[in-house]
Amino acid sequence: MKNQYQIFEGTKRLQMTESIDLTRQSLLAYGPSHKHWCIAWSGGKDSSTLLTLVVWMISTGKVPAPESLTVMYADTRLELSPLWFAAQEIMEELREIGIEVKTVMAPLEKRFMTYILGRGVPPPNNNTFRWCTRQIKIDPMKHELEKLFSEKGEKVLMLTGVRQGESAIRDQRIVMSCGKDGAECGQGWYQETMPDQLCDTLAPILHWRVCHVWEWLKHWAPLPEYGDWSTAAIADAYGGDEAEEINARTGCTGCPLAQKDGALDTVTKMPRWSYLAPLKRLKPLWRELRKPENRLRKTGMEEEGKNKQRMGPLTMAARQMALNEVLTIQQEVNTAAVALARPKIDIMSKEEEAFIRQCWENNIWPNKWTGDEPTADTLMDIVYSDGSIQPLLFY
Ligand code: SF4
Repeated sequence: MKNQYQIFEGTKRLQMTESIDLTRQSLLAYGPSHKHWCIAWSGGKDSSTLLTLVVWMISTGKVPAPESLTVMYADTRLELSPLWFAAQEIMEELREIGIEVKTVMAPLEKRFMTYILGRGVPPPNNNTFRWCTRQIKIDPMKHELEKLFSEKGEKVLMLTGVRQGESAIRDQRIVMSCGKDGAECGQGWYQETMPDQLCDTLAPILHWRVCHVWEWLKHWAPLPEYGDWSTAAIADAYGGDEAEEINARTGCTGCPLAQKDGALDTVTKMPRWSYLAPLKRLKPLWRELRKPENRLRKTGMEEEGKNKQRMGPLTMAARQMALNEVLTIQQEVNTAAVALARPKIDIMSKEEEAFIRQCWENNIWPNKWTGDEPTADTLMDIVYSDGSIQPLLFY
């Protein structure tokens, strides 16, 4: 009997008001121990729910205001465009009520596109080479947190939009995934990797079900009594009325680690966002760049080490091809945007383009590569990790 599924036990679902109240209780319990709070906001559904909810609770006196509240908007430069547009509006609303918002971005040389197209580092993949989340999301946030810590002179309470649904209440084990099952890439990582000496982290909507998130964004938060927020545009960006069914994962447009560009596929099906369709070519572009003909390979004779004939950086020709494609995509979208009186995208700024071209001029290669290595599709003798060589039978 013990292991049998209980039909009636544990099935009572939390109501919206209970979810909100549990959030309030967690802020009342853990908030007062810190004078300064900070919200890590990605612009996605979960962290936008957290942000608008917390600000509403503070401004209506449901939760005592901390001495300072800093909102840190994580901008990867590849946010899903409709979400980015919605975030800009919410930022305006926050500033109007006197809340400090900082846009947190990786430095020019470490952004997703400049790193790939300028330095020649291959796009990240799921297996051995995942550099992006840390570099474009976590490290910039850490850096900003360090600045905040030194300004305030004490530990900050970092609030994150990590959400595990109702099981979080029953199950104390919090699994920190990055971008699984409708989560936002990076959210769990903020919770897990922010340094203890700078901040304590709290996830006040950990127990929220996804349907409550939509309910809040679409119907509650836009009402004047809950803050009059422009959050309905976020639900719209996830697919409008069908958003509840979709539970889409969001992250960078064209994320090479996601199986599909699901969120982009969904929005471009809607007539008002269909002009963004050229962005769908980004994901295949990153895949193309990982092919051997677009990369260099060590011959195996250069250095010690196990992986003697590893594939490496992008050739200059591949970087040029990819930059042209990115600029063409941007141009196509923006020409349509102007014609349709819709917002324009900015995935490659003039400054970023100039930086990339400067890297080419300076012949920049990743560490331990010179650019003189052969391309990875060149036939060569096989060099094993112990140094033994098996010559090619045929050239
Ligand atoms: S969404 Fe994808 S590309 Fe962007 S940081 Fe996360 S894993 Fe990397």
